[in-house]
Amino acid sequence: MKTTLRLAVVAAAAVAAFGAHAQDFPAKDKTVTIVVPFAAGGPTDRVARDLAEALRKPLGATVVVDNTAGAGSSIGAARVARATPDGYTLLLNHIGMSTMPALYRKLPFSVPNDFEYLGMVNDVPMTLIARPTMPANNFKELSAWIQQNKGKINLGNAGLGAASHLCGLMFQSAMQVDMTPVPYKGTAPAITDLIGGQIDLLCDQTTNTTSQIEGKKVKAYAVTTPKRLTTPALKDLPTLAESGLKDFNVSIWHGLYAPKGTPAPVVTKINEALKVALKDPDFIKKQEALGAVVVTDKRMEPAEHKKFVQSEIDKWGAVIKAAGTYAD
Ligand code: ASP
Repeated sequence: MKTTLRLAVVAAAAVAAFGAHAQDFPAKDKTVTIVVPFAAGGPTDRVARDLAEALRKPLGATVVVDNTAGAGSSIGAARVARATPDGYTLLLNHIGMSTMPALYRKLPFSVPNDFEYLGMVNDVPMTLIARPTMPANNFKELSAWIQQNKGKINLGNAGLGAASHLCGLMFQSAMQVDMTPVPYKGTAPAITDLIGGQIDLLCDQTTNTTSQIEGKKVKAYAVTTPKRLTTPALKDLPTLAESGLKDFNVSIWHGLYAPKGTPAPVVTKINEALKVALKDPDFIKKQEALGAVVVTDKRMEPAEHKKFVQSEIDKWGAVIKAAGTYAD
């Protein structure tokens, strides 16, 4: 047989075999792993663990979470981009999907081209919080403290491209004050250091900060969304915009992804299970208690979520380029 013909036959056999497996997805003896590209115990991890639980029944599979943290989610995302495209390795990531392309000069994958988009999960506000020993008791006092302590302020983040990093950049630019960034592998370890007083400030998702604010473990000053929140523990927090930082708006979201080349029937099956999970009253209740809003609109469809991510890449790419922040 000629080489080209032989290759074509082998390729056709591989496609047929893969296609057959796709019909059987998920196999009874296999586990679906959701890779979280940040540290365990943080906000992305919280969403992933709640989602894994809600997905188990509609997907008919064991769903586990595995953390591959570091570099603002790019290490975990690279792991999934390189994984076998069979539906058993998925990625849950946040707005980092749309900030990484502009922030990293040598990203080892392409966000638009190396993933199958499975659908969006939720929208999550952020809060501006400080160490418990921070003397300021409201945003006005915090602003004054920031002006008095210029050059000495440590601001935590979860690495370049993380939501906390993005929010921190916006906050510094709105305040016109440079702060020292302190990167972590996720905001779970960052919040531990904030509580311990090793860093001064942190901008983090409500899925991580709500219980800390409720328990008075940290000081909270504002939410980053244009509107106040309705979650009981957060409803008294002003917005940064109403506190004087005009038009301040950082809203985070999470989406679910698979490696490029995952067979279409598998993508459809996971998307259908995701849509059931997004309507699960228990999942919705857990997310609402943490200030997150589960997606109910067309962004739960793969094509619409992809369109949305592209619009976020365009939006944040321009902001990041203007700020001139890059990593190799
Ligand atoms: N909240 C983190 C961030 O800043 C990510 C995490 O730890 O889940 O992006």
